[in-house]
Amino acid sequence: MKTDIYSMLPEELCEYFISLGEPKFRAKQVFERLHRGERISEITNLSKALRARLSEETLDALPYVEEKHVSKIDGTVKYLFRLHDGACIESVLMRYKHGNTVCISSQVGCRMGCKFCASTIGGRVRDLLPSELLGQVIMVQRDSGERISNIVMMGIGEPLDNFDNVVKFLRLVNHPDGLNIGYRHISLSTCGVVSGIERLAEIDIPITLSISLHAANDTRRSEIMPINNKWNIDALLSACVSYYKVTGRRISFEYTLISGKNDSVSDAEELAAVLTAAFRGTGAPIHVNLIRVNEVEETGFKKGSVESVNAFAKTLEKRGITATVRRRLGSDVNAACGQLRRSNMLKKDEQKS
Ligand code: SAH
Repeated sequence: MKTDIYSMLPEELCEYFISLGEPKFRAKQVFERLHRGERISEITNLSKALRARLSEETLDALPYVEEKHVSKIDGTVKYLFRLHDGACIESVLMRYKHGNTVCISSQVGCRMGCKFCASTIGGRVRDLLPSELLGQVIMVQRDSGERISNIVMMGIGEPLDNFDNVVKFLRLVNHPDGLNIGYRHISLSTCGVVSGIERLAEIDIPITLSISLHAANDTRRSEIMPINNKWNIDALLSACVSYYKVTGRRISFEYTLISGKNDSVSDAEELAAVLTAAFRGTGAPIHVNLIRVNEVEETGFKKGSVESVNAFAKTLEKRGITATVRRRLGSDVNAACGQLRRSNMLKKDEQKS
């Protein structure tokens, strides 16, 4: 078993170096260098012998760029990263006025089974380690040469299905000697793992929580999101309300519009009614992000017209719910969740046969 030093906080790294018979100050030095994007072999102020030993004994958790696609439309960069065991994941660099945001994956594949999502085809292969979550941010910063100020956990995988590693990653990426990214600049999106939302409310990590709701009643939600059979809308929204009451942090909702499935004006009315009823008396502002479904060949779901999205948003607004229609960044580089990994897998299958 290799030692996973990228998953270690400075105090843990300190113990590791002491166990190697090295002085304590190595820990801070190495932590800073690794988080800046240098691989062990590149930290030249360590002796050659120590570098050789560390390269041999430690896990090379910084990913390698397997593919990189730059959008001609908006400069969004989509990365397909290869990990030390050959598994591939996706990360996306998005440039906004308020800073550079990286969207990272939390697992290799996903077992949540949402019907519209490309990441879930083929299921979950494995969880990502804290080091591999962090490695995506470090590598995007290294490759782009631009400071990353925001992180969204909206790539492949379900972050709350990999809870402990995600929390460790959050502590690492927030560390002042490392990337020092503020918790308020980090968002986590979940399909509705209620046990994870409850655990998140108990710890003092004020990230922004985003809920993938996508339907306003249980029949429809269960049709497209199997997680709804475990925790239905009622259970999910109750957890959201408790989360808000305990932490004071507001939650936003994601709603993917699928033509003919969940995108009518009466769907919008139902959504407004459900959210308003759940949050009544809490004083919490309710915000919904709308996005037209990205068409994934295997799912057969189609996106509706721009007019239908606007009508949906208007209906929510009329009922006191703020709605933003999400801009689709990187539409020319397969930037939607799981699509690049999927097309790379298909390409490899073709080469084999
Ligand atoms: N597992 C987490 C995060 C990953 S997906 C979650 O479910 O929230 C990030 C967002 O993209 C989720 O809201 C997800 O439902 C949505 N999504 C997945 N596939 C999509 C597609 N084909 N079109 C539009 N949105 C999609």
